Amino acid sequence: MKITAVTPIPVTVELGREPMSFSFVRIETDEGLVGYGEACDSYAATYAGVIGEIITQVLSPLLVGREFVVVEPVVEHLRLATRRRLGEKGVAAHARSAVEIALWDLVAQAAGRSVSEQLGQVRDRVNVYASSTFLDEGPAQFHADLLAPLLERGVRYAKVRVGPRWQQDLRTLTELRDLLPDDLELMIDGSDTFTLPTAMQVAERLGDLGIRWFEEPIPQANRAAIAALSARSSVPIAYGEHLYGREDMLDALANDGISVVQPDASTCGIAEARAVAGIATFYGARVVPHICAGPVALAANLAVAASVHNINLVEYPFFLEPAWEALGGGKQFGIEAIEDGSLAVPSGPGLGVRLPEDAATTYPYRLPGTRIVGTVGGVLDRFVGDR
Ligand SMILES: [Mg+2]
Repeated sequence: MKITAVTPIPVTVELGREPMSFSFVRIETDEGLVGYGEACDSYAATYAGVIGEIITQVLSPLLVGREFVVVEPVVEHLRLATRRRLGEKGVAAHARSAVEIALWDLVAQAAGRSVSEQLGQVRDRVNVYASSTFLDEGPAQFHADLLAPLLERGVRYAKVRVGPRWQQDLRTLTELRDLLPDDLELMIDGSDTFTLPTAMQVAERLGDLGIRWFEEPIPQANRAAIAALSARSSVPIAYGEHLYGREDMLDALANDGISVVQPDASTCGIAEARAVAGIATFYGARVVPHICAGPVALAANLAVAASVHNINLVEYPFFLEPAWEALGGGKQFGIEAIEDGSLAVPSGPGLGVRLPEDAATTYPYRLPGTRIVGTVGGVLDRFVGDR
């Protein structure tokens, strides 16, 4: 199979909360097959056009005209050819991941299988956790109502977010815990917000409430603080959505003491996400893929979860359902598709998701500009420390 065209497709979709951008790539071959990939920039490729430029200027010239039968050597070539010119992490890794996902889509299509079958499928359904919103967006009942449709579909895991107004958030969380079923596992995302002293206080309260993990409590560059918190917190500490593969993850497990890892195939690639899961077993860490992007990234992460023994739970940001449906996922990833708390892994061929041909014109990409992403209080930047 020879690659004939590599086309980035950034789009912006109006969602109820705010417009969100998504970063796709379309790869065509001389056999007429078309594969789709997607990059996540954690908050859904906020600068999808930047990732698109990397694909156009850097990766496409290395790909067009190349013959391939398996994915890994192509991706390794991209990494080695660009590491000193572009770097290996950040948006470079996001762009490379989008290409890798599209290549897996093509290889699996050529074999007449799903991507999960191509990787070695061990399960055909994957449990999801309801990834919900910031606690300061409403009282406890507001959050319980948001989660109710998912609980009705058998979901038994949920996550809410604590922000700079953490004292009030913890009061809301205490009330919310009482409103939810006892057997529901509840997790907290700190969105890279706190200093060590505040994170310690929050973690202590989370321990009292039986919270199952405290995600990104401290900006991930503050390594010593994370290690100190991990050593003292009774609540497991989770990181990974901003880590770019096995080297980063090994460091976080070995030196920072984290015990939940959250790789994302649309951030570090499918092969790296699977490698991370393998490393995590040596540390007894839980592996729960991060998902916060469009339907192609969701399908790629489901393929990872379906093909790795020690992954039986993935993130499910249910507020993205309209975007998944509009961008080629159809109804297969919607809340109504959840049964007994799990989603079916797409049966293929390939990823089982195809971006609509008219996506770029129906959902034209718009620069996010100075749009504020954060809590209702209007946090300009997640790295706000404490108030
Ligand atoms: Mg997160």
